[in-house]
Amino acid sequence: MTPGRSPVTIHLAKEIWFSRRSGDAIQFVALKDAAMAVDDLGKIIALGRANEFKSQVHAERTVDHGDGIIMPGFVDAHLHCPQIDVIGSGGLPLLEWLNKYVFPAEAKFKDQKVAQSGAKRLVRELKRHGVTTAAVFSSVHAVAAEALFSEFDAAGLRLISGKTSMDVGAPGEVLQPVRSDIEDQEALIKRWHGKAGRLFYAITPRFALSCSREMMRALGDLRERNLSCYVQSHISETTDEVAEVKKVWNGSKDYLAVYEDHGLLGAKTLLGHGIYLTDPEIRRMAATKTSVVHCPTSNSFLGSGLFNLKRTADLGARICLASDIGAGTGLSPWQTMLECYKVQALQGHRLTADELLYRATLAGAESLGLDGTCGSLEVGKDADFIVVNPSRNRLLSERIAVTETPAERLFACMAYGDDRIIEETYVAGQRLYAQSKAE
Ligand SMILES: [Zn+2]
Repeated sequence: MTPGRSPVTIHLAKEIWFSRRSGDAIQFVALKDAAMAVDDLGKIIALGRANEFKSQVHAERTVDHGDGIIMPGFVDAHLHCPQIDVIGSGGLPLLEWLNKYVFPAEAKFKDQKVAQSGAKRLVRELKRHGVTTAAVFSSVHAVAAEALFSEFDAAGLRLISGKTSMDVGAPGEVLQPVRSDIEDQEALIKRWHGKAGRLFYAITPRFALSCSREMMRALGDLRERNLSCYVQSHISETTDEVAEVKKVWNGSKDYLAVYEDHGLLGAKTLLGHGIYLTDPEIRRMAATKTSVVHCPTSNSFLGSGLFNLKRTADLGARICLASDIGAGTGLSPWQTMLECYKVQALQGHRLTADELLYRATLAGAESLGLDGTCGSLEVGKDADFIVVNPSRNRLLSERIAVTETPAERLFACMAYGDDRIIEETYVAGQRLYAQSKAE
């Protein structure tokens, strides 16, 4: 038994919700008057109706969450820590927005104090929004990646991250030559990849237009030497970007091939956006298990376009959700899910609450290869969960009082929900955040 931990804790809640995969099908599981037992290692050892628990599970401790709803912690599979202070910078499309707001903000992260403060504030916000696993871009500076890993390490959250690689197409203060970039990454991989079973390194070419051929080759080689590392980048976010990539990378058959030709695709690769991917590109992503990370609030805010989730899913690609702050307009997964619904509805496809929950939790864990550990509440997995308290929002609780099904309640949480209704956040059974105790 780990010192300071109670051997078995039972969490009682009015409802427990999660998505479960059964072959190709995804089920929405909703248990009423439910209980979840968590052992001293933070693993879920039993789950079910509370009244069946009393005779079956012996627990040293019981936590009654009252009218709370227990759900899996959210997975935010694409966001930018150094952009935490440029959320809501409006008026420009992607490439101009990067130049005017983002690169100057990221340049500030060369300063260790700025980077540490940014990472600390990001961790604070993720916990209060119920995000337990995040794939985060740092800036180009090794010191910023170091700050990010150290803050997530201290906080107990799960992190996939890496320093961003850029050697062309931006101001000098956010560029780094290939050789020192790779040296910095080798050191970061050694120090952080796999630490505590929660922190993992991602090779992070910002996108095709910020890496020279030499850089992309070096990143491919680095990947080959470190096959357990992740890869994260952007793809086909705007039509201007796609046209520019076609010009600059004229030897590649399409945008995806820029990454593909350098060995950067695979089951641990996450590519943000993918709005303008062609069918052959999506098929090749599906064949390599490369994930598309859909960032709906970002796409709407920058006016980048409407990602077609149905078409991308029908072609077999893995898809999960993310906030993509600072282009995204906030860290609340409720709002990301709602925006995802709206973007699909505008294209005539209306997603169910079940699917939206799946995309924001289990699909993220699957894209990261962490679905054996988190993303749903099943026996044997780590207890990464949140307690939702709808009564923190008066209109939401009044709305919920007139709902009949868990799916209706889940949808209402998306429409009205934000950080106010996240009561508590846990990773591997450890409480990392309680609203009642938050500063
Ligand atoms: Zn992004």
